[in-house]
Amino acid sequence: ERLNEDNSFRKITTNYNQNEDNINVVVRVRPLSKKEMQRGDTQIVDFPGNGQIMVDHCARTGSDSHKPKRFSYNVVFEPGATQEDVLQFSGMKRLISMAIEGFRCTCFCYGQTGSGKTHTLTGPPGLIGTRTVPYSENHGLIFRSFQYLFQQIQLQSDTHFVLKASYLEIYNEKVIDLLNSGSLRKPLAVRWSKKACGFFVENLFTVDCEELDDLIAVLEEGLRNRSIGRHNMNDYSSRSHTILTVHISSELPAENGVFISRTGKINFVDLAGSEMTKKTQSQGKMLEEANNINKSLMVLGYCIATLSDPKKRSSHIPYRDSKLTKLLADSLAGNGATLMIACISPAKSNACETVNTLRYAARAKEIRTKPVVLMDPREALILSLKREIDVLQNENKHL
Ligand code: ADP
Ligand code: MG
Repeated sequence: ERLNEDNSFRKITTNYNQNEDNINVVVRVRPLSKKEMQRGDTQIVDFPGNGQIMVDHCARTGSDSHKPKRFSYNVVFEPGATQEDVLQFSGMKRLISMAIEGFRCTCFCYGQTGSGKTHTLTGPPGLIGTRTVPYSENHGLIFRSFQYLFQQIQLQSDTHFVLKASYLEIYNEKVIDLLNSGSLRKPLAVRWSKKACGFFVENLFTVDCEELDDLIAVLEEGLRNRSIGRHNMNDYSSRSHTILTVHISSELPAENGVFISRTGKINFVDLAGSEMTKKTQSQGKMLEEANNINKSLMVLGYCIATLSDPKKRSSHIPYRDSKLTKLLADSLAGNGATLMIACISPAKSNACETVNTLRYAARAKEIRTKPVVLMDPREALILSLKREIDVLQNENKHL
């Protein structure tokens, strides 16, 4: 750690113009672990400030003809940053506010296995079940977002809110409900419907959540079912994607007794380890599995690459090619807002994966979208007429 000009420890640096962007990319660097320190692994990631990261990439090969690679993001969380820092400075609060207003939003953690995705989203294992310490410094972003969401909703006393939550897992291109232990391991279908305004999972449990504790119970139940379903596979969690979704419907009073209803949502996505994309070469019985796991991650990468390239932006985006991208299409496609948290290890032994993640994140930063609120067309018309009246009244004032 080093000192800032004002003598505080520097933990977060930013390069903000972020409130304009609907894809916000931040990087979180975890501390070097005890194990890494014990085996003499060193930190090759450095923080020059202003949202920049430097990686002494070739340190790995020992070649001396190299220049450290430099990357730049909206926000960089250095190893000393806390879980609360991530809520406060990642743009997550803005995402929650947008979801309340009716936008479809996604927060996803991307990075190699062991880089801190699950730590960032849910905190250390076993923590959630122990609600005796509700404000533990280790509680992750999902828990903190739930608290913030309820705080925000309670401030809007004239609006009626209905919250529902679902929690699913995509493993080997199969969608599994993490809230329905009865049908556990029985895959569900992903379908498209006009009514749902996009893709949805058929027969997925959606639980009504009236209170904060109901949302936390959903998180706990999903985490419990996920660990039960593991079937002694060591690297199960590094091969699956999980999506926890909170649906936020609201009715707010407009004029003349008319109500405007909006339906927003927020997805929290813990992705499979990004190193999985390179395992397509595996042989034998793992091949299909490797391909399928890769499929969602690879298609996501391809969608991001296409969306972020100004020359290709209007071309076909292959959301339909994987389960994950189908379910995230509405946030990525320009109807919502997305927060990508790229998680990296600072260790020399992880240098290649770290650089891969930073490149992926840099690409995602180039995506430009324009979010729209999901609204009944009639209500949208009323709102737009109302805006027009406001404009006319204003013009009248100035005559
Ligand atoms: P992933 O989900 O990406 O595979 P984990 O979240 O399980 O990685 O993190 C791997 C290990 O590193 C865990 O033991 C976790 O507690 C620890 N860890 C990750 N990020 C941090 C952090 N920011 N601060 C402290 N420990 C962390
Ligand atoms: Mg994990």
